[in-house]
Amino acid sequence: MAARAQRIVFAGANLFDGTGTPAAEADVVVVDGLIAEVGRDLDGDESVDLAGKGLLPGLIDCHVHVVVSPGPRHELLQTPFSYRFFRAVANLQTTLATGITTARDAAGADLGLKRAVADGLVQGPRLQIAIRMLSQTGGHGDEWQACGFAPGLAFPTYPGMPDGVIDGAIEARRAVRTLVRAGADWIKVATTGGFSSPVSDPTRPHLRPDELGELQTEAEAAGRHVMAHAQGLAGVKNAVAAGYRSVEHGVWLDDEVIARMAEQGTWLVPTLLVPVWSLENGRPQPKFDLQATIEAHGDSFRRAVDAGVRIALGTDCGIVPHGENLRELELMVERGLSPARALAAATSSAAELLGLSDSIGTIESGKRADLVVVDGDPLDVRGLRDRIEAVYQDGRLVSARSAS
Ligand SMILES: [Zn+2]
Repeated sequence: MAARAQRIVFAGANLFDGTGTPAAEADVVVVDGLIAEVGRDLDGDESVDLAGKGLLPGLIDCHVHVVVSPGPRHELLQTPFSYRFFRAVANLQTTLATGITTARDAAGADLGLKRAVADGLVQGPRLQIAIRMLSQTGGHGDEWQACGFAPGLAFPTYPGMPDGVIDGAIEARRAVRTLVRAGADWIKVATTGGFSSPVSDPTRPHLRPDELGELQTEAEAAGRHVMAHAQGLAGVKNAVAAGYRSVEHGVWLDDEVIARMAEQGTWLVPTLLVPVWSLENGRPQPKFDLQATIEAHGDSFRRAVDAGVRIALGTDCGIVPHGENLRELELMVERGLSPARALAAATSSAAELLGLSDSIGTIESGKRADLVVVDGDPLDVRGLRDRIEAVYQDGRLVSARSAS
């Protein structure tokens, strides 16, 4: 006779379950890595006493770069090629310890890394991957330097990591097919320039409607969605018009495009943290005034929230240090989102964006037992990073703060 599976009861936590129900004291029973029951006075074979603690669903970051680490690009000239993968293992562990149990990698992670996590070779958030960001010649993904070389420092091309510079609809079509062949869950494209690339201008729209439309058509045929790196207004409008599922960054938005995003259900993944962290840490930004960018970005975000645009958490960690992810929650709250909605952006809403609502994003019976134990009120997002006490993924303890 098969042994009955262990019932582990997480008892007495102040539970934010992600369903929209107000936080309240509850017990959660986990069996075989799944949530079996949520309620009061539940019993189990084993008990984890969470009196005085908060309990959240595993958090979801919809925009990270786990293979990228912050630092001057020129340092990469002296970094051995394979070192990035070993550092990625550390970045994944740091992200997991922050309470992020699922992440969408917005360029850099390849199928090997995703599979290594899925197979349990390395610990980390379960991943959806874009593999490579597509962009036009001279665009945000083109690492061409004024000396005439394009060294591929941040995002080198190698087996499993196809080149990302495309011009013309036929190249757009081939690029989607090549990325899908390499295992991409998402197609990522830069519809504007960006801050960190050598020559591109974040306010300029990149790629023309025929190229952008081809990406959407081909992604759709392969059962994939498109996510757009889009900062300036014209490029955001093109991304929304092309029918893309998410707009990443969305620094400069007008009310017209906000209304269309709300109507179409286009997601905004704002990554508010990037310019804030850059300013705080004295990272020079030759292209734009960081303070003005932060203000415009905050204003766009606030108006999008007011208009009912769907928001999911994304942080661009990799550009900012891994482990800083939860500061994004504080920034969202400072810019007008309620703490409960900010947490929803990191749980149930993020799961919806990723198409994973059936299995993660809330604490309900039948869902995977991804659980985050926090010290104190789960709805107080200030300093949340330092209050993460334990992280469970599929019911297994994957990170615990050591008592000091
Ligand atoms: Zn990014």
